[in-house]
Amino acid sequence: MDLNKILYKDDFSAEEIEYLLSLSNIDEVEQLRLRAYEVMKQYCGEYVSARGLVEFSNYCVNDCYYCGIRKSNQTVSRYLLSKDDILKAAHRIVEYGYGSMVLQSGDRNDKEFIDFVVDIVKEIKSQTRSEQLPEGLGVTLCVGEQTLETYKKFYEAGAHRYLLRIETTNPELFKQIHPKEQTLESRKHALSLIKQAGFQVGTGVMIAIPGQTLRDLANDILFFKHYDIDMLGMGPYLTTTNTPMEKFADACQKNHDYTLRLALNMISVSRIVLKDVNIASTTALQAMDDEGREKGLLHGANVIMPQMTPMYVRKEYQLYDGKPCLEDSVEHCSNCIKFRVISTGREIAMNDWGDSKHFTKNHKHA
Ligand code: SAH
Repeated sequence: MDLNKILYKDDFSAEEIEYLLSLSNIDEVEQLRLRAYEVMKQYCGEYVSARGLVEFSNYCVNDCYYCGIRKSNQTVSRYLLSKDDILKAAHRIVEYGYGSMVLQSGDRNDKEFIDFVVDIVKEIKSQTRSEQLPEGLGVTLCVGEQTLETYKKFYEAGAHRYLLRIETTNPELFKQIHPKEQTLESRKHALSLIKQAGFQVGTGVMIAIPGQTLRDLANDILFFKHYDIDMLGMGPYLTTTNTPMEKFADACQKNHDYTLRLALNMISVSRIVLKDVNIASTTALQAMDDEGREKGLLHGANVIMPQMTPMYVRKEYQLYDGKPCLEDSVEHCSNCIKFRVISTGREIAMNDWGDSKHFTKNHKHA
C-alpha cells in the first residue's frame, strides 16, 4: 500500500485502516503522526480542552471481567462522594479555568442514584455560572447504560455530553470480556438513546485486549464513523489484580511497547479517519508511559482530563493496575497537567466547554 496516498484520502476501507494501524517503522509512524496532527489542527485547532475528572462513586452493578471496580471485587471499599465534596470539586475546576467536568462512576440504575445524579448536575450548573461561563461548567456524564427516560432526565438537568465506551465491536470478544447479562447490542442501543436524548455522544474501546486483532480495531473505527460519534476516549487494556482477566498479566507486560505504539497509532488513525471529533488523551496511556498523555496529544488527541477526584477515595477507583496520580493532590495534578500540555507546545483553552466540532457543525441553529 502507498502510505502517502492513503494518508490523504477521505474515505477508508477496513484494509487501509488496518494497514495504518499496523505501522511500526519509526519513519512511517512519524508520517502517520504528522498527518494526524495536521488534520487535528485543521479541524479542531491546536488548543487542548480540559475536563476536570471526578470519579464520584465506585459502586457498580456490573461485573466486567477486566475492571477493578467490578461488583465481585470485594477488595475494594465502596464509596459515594457527598454532594458537598462533588460541588467543592466543581468549584475547584472553575478556579483552575477548565470550563468542563466529567462525572464518572460505576454503573447503577436505581432511582436513588439517578435522582442523586440529576440533583448534583443541577446544582453544579446553577452554582458555577459566571461572567466567563454564563451557562456554568460544561458537564459530561459517564455513568453507564440507562433508559431513554433517564438519559433525558440527565440532559434536562444540564449535562450535555455523555461517554459510554463500546469497549470492542467484535461480538465474540465482547462476550469474552463481559458476563452474559451485558450485550453488545444493548451497548449499541444505549449509544443511540444517548444521542436521541440530545447529548454529544462519546464512545471508545480498549486497545490490545487479549485476543483482539488489528482488523477488530479497524472495524471499531468504522463503527465510530458509522455511528456518527462526536467524542472518543480510548486507552490500552491494562491488567487488574483481582479480576478474571488478571491471568493475562504476563502477556500484557511482554507486549508493553507494542501496545503503547498501537494505542498511539489508534489515536492518529481515528483522527485521520474521523477528522473533527474530540479525542481524549487518556490516563491509561500515562499508566503505560510517564509521558503517555503528552504522546497522545502529539498523535492527534485534543482533550485531556486532569484528575480532580478527592485524594481520599482515589485508591478505591482503580480500574486497572498502575493507575497514575493516586498520591498527588488536586493542586499538583492541575499544575502537572498544565506543564505536560505546555511541553507539547500547546495550551489549555481556558473557560471553554470545548464542544466537539463534529457535533456543533451538525447542529447549527438556523
Ligand atoms: N461505569 C462507567 C464508567 C467507569 S469505567 C461506564 O461503564 O461507562 C470507564 C472505562 O474504563 C471503561 O469504559 C473501560 O473502557 C475502562 N477500563 C476499565 N477497566 C480497564 C482496564 N483494566 N484497562 C483499561 N481500561 C479499563
